[in-house]
Amino acid sequence: MREFKSFYKTVEGNEGEKCHYPTRLDTYGCGCQHDCKYCYAKSLLEFRDLWNPNDPSVADIKKIENKVKSLTRGSIVRLGGMTDCFQPCENIHKVTYKTIQLLNRYGIHYLIVTKSDLVASDEYVAIMDKNLAHIQITITSTNDQMALEYERATPSSRRIRAIEKLESLGFDVQMRLSPFIPDYVDLAIIDNVKCKRVIVEFLRVNAFIKRTFNLDYSLYTHKEGGYYHLPLETKKGLIGQLYTKEISVCEDCSLAYEYWQTHLNTLPDDCCNLMFSPSSKMIGNRNVLVGNKTAFLCSSTTDSSILQACQNWAESRSDEDIVISGFQSKAELSVLDVLLSKKTKIIMVLAKRMFEKCPQKYKKAVEEGRMLIISPFNAYANLDLVTKEAAQQRNEYLLNRANKIVIGYASAGGMLDNILKKQSKTYQVLVRRT
Ligand code: SF4
Repeated sequence: MREFKSFYKTVEGNEGEKCHYPTRLDTYGCGCQHDCKYCYAKSLLEFRDLWNPNDPSVADIKKIENKVKSLTRGSIVRLGGMTDCFQPCENIHKVTYKTIQLLNRYGIHYLIVTKSDLVASDEYVAIMDKNLAHIQITITSTNDQMALEYERATPSSRRIRAIEKLESLGFDVQMRLSPFIPDYVDLAIIDNVKCKRVIVEFLRVNAFIKRTFNLDYSLYTHKEGGYYHLPLETKKGLIGQLYTKEISVCEDCSLAYEYWQTHLNTLPDDCCNLMFSPSSKMIGNRNVLVGNKTAFLCSSTTDSSILQACQNWAESRSDEDIVISGFQSKAELSVLDVLLSKKTKIIMVLAKRMFEKCPQKYKKAVEEGRMLIISPFNAYANLDLVTKEAAQQRNEYLLNRANKIVIGYASAGGMLDNILKKQSKTYQVLVRRT
């Protein structure tokens, strides 16, 4: 058994800058028994004769313990960033098992990325700490036979069952479509998997990939960073077919990266979209994010007729409606009061640090599973008070993610009026003044 010495690394450069969790701890290295034909690690190591898929090197658990001891409690490492930490040899060596026990002991979060269903076996479920474990199970095809042509991992159907088991047990689990190759994935099947959150990483094409897959590469027209990518509009169309999921896109094309950050990803700085995020937390039911959302905003300049129109609008919401707002101006707060008294679903987006604990006023709606409070702006996480800039970004965030927009009243030349002038979506205004 050869020792794998470089088991701990923080990724830098373009990838490190865009990735919120760039520190990885690999329990196995220099080979992965899944031996995926498209494997990035393999592409780097094989030509130097350093890739041994039949007999990967194994990290020394004593050295792992020394490293884990030195980490800050509450920090996070990615388990299996370079090779799969649940590849078959884990059944023999159990280094991942022992590492999870160590991470639990020292209070370190672990993000597991795997193509194996071993992670969902009773043995591992018994030791994983729900507060520390974050699991992404990768699906590359919804056809078991097709996947066998390019990877030797657990069949996709079993991976899907593993995802559903972990979800039903209350783990922070996501289905990871990576690399997402539209020809290989039936999005209707993906949409039916009982897992709320999906992370998507589109295929990037270079000569190595072209040798691996037989695809229509003429569709990959956008060139950036030495790879060819699908155009952003094509990607948006594909994402739009996942109706029932909270989706996050992991991306390294600059333009598309900015688009997903601004318009789609729940946590703009964290495309992994983990339940854990040191500076951008949520309170409440994340499921509320899935579905058609109506943004409601109203200027702080108000009077009784504006308030009345806003309250009437709130009264007419049904239980199925989802209203997303900062609930900050007087009229927005009056709408919130009405919604809290009903069964409507509510998403409150803060433009300041997340509450230390759920305010008493919102507890009932949160406990009923119909309210989510979110503070997605890491850059503003240290703010106790709302700034104008943070409020503006918060409003843009919620407008971008809304399917419909309703404006109570926008005072001429005010912040809301200026945001609306740049708005490409249509919106309804309850009160207009000339
Ligand atoms: S599971 Fe991951 S690390 Fe292992 S061969 Fe496949 S792509 Fe490479």
